[in-house]
Amino acid sequence: MNNDKNIHGILLQLPLPKHLDSNDFLSKINPMKDVDGFHPENSGLLFQGKPRFIPCTPLGCVKILEYYKINIKSKYIVVIGRSNIVGKPITSLLSQPFEIGNATVTLCHSHTTNLSDYTKLADIIIAAVGKPNLIKKDMVKDGCIILDIGINRINDHSDKGYHIVGDVDFSSLVEKASYITPVPGGVGPMTISMLMHNTILAAELSIK
Ligand code: NDP
Repeated sequence: MNNDKNIHGILLQLPLPKHLDSNDFLSKINPMKDVDGFHPENSGLLFQGKPRFIPCTPLGCVKILEYYKINIKSKYIVVIGRSNIVGKPITSLLSQPFEIGNATVTLCHSHTTNLSDYTKLADIIIAAVGKPNLIKKDMVKDGCIILDIGINRINDHSDKGYHIVGDVDFSSLVEKASYITPVPGGVGPMTISMLMHNTILAAELSIK
C-alpha cells in the first residue's frame, strides 16, 4: 500500500491488540499517506509549526472554532487528556502562531491535582478523557466554550442496550456555556470529515 500509486491514504485502525505496539506499526506507514497524522514525521512537523497532515479530531475542533468565528488568540484553553491522537496534538496546534492559534494552553491528565482549579479559569475547555460527566457545572466559568471529544457508552434499557455520552455533563452546562458541542453529533462527525479532507490532501500531494 505504501508503494501503490492508486492508494493515497492509509489509516491504522486503533487500538491494536495489547501485544502489538501501535507506534511500531504507525511508523511503517508512508508519511505522505499518513492521513491520520500519527507518523512521527507528521507529529514532528506539527510540533515544529509546519504541519502536513493534522490529526483528524484536532483538525475537526479547529474547523468548528473557525466555522463559529471563535477567536482563540490570547485565550486560555484547558485540554484534558494527553493522548498522542487527540490531547497532545491539539495542545500543540492551538498554541502555534497560526490564524486559529496563539492561545495559552494547559494540558491536564490523570495526575493533575485539582482539575477544577484549571477548568474554572478556562475560556475554552477541550475534554478528551473517556469519563462520562467528568466536567460538571461547578467546574466551569460562565460563558465558557466547551468542545467535548469523549465518547462513552452507557448501558441502558433501550432497544440498543446503550447510549453514548461525552465527558461533559451536557444538560447542566448547556445554559452556562456560550458554546458546547453535543455527543453524539459534535466533534465525532467532524473527525470523519477531516479524514476525507486529509485523504484529498494526500492525493494532491502525490501529484506535486
Ligand atoms: P486515552 O484513553 O488514550 O487517554 C485518556 C486521557 O485522559 C489520558 O491522558 C489520561 O491521563 C486522562 N485522564 C484519565 N482520567 C482523568 C481524569 N480523571 N482527569 C484528567 N485526565 C484524565 O484518550 P483518547 O484521546 O484516545 O480518547 C479520549 C476520549 O475521546 C475517549 O472517550 C475516546 O473514545 C474519545 N475520542 C473521540 C474521538 C472523536 O472523534 N470524537 C476521536 C478520538 C477519541 P493519563 O495520561 O495520566 O493516563
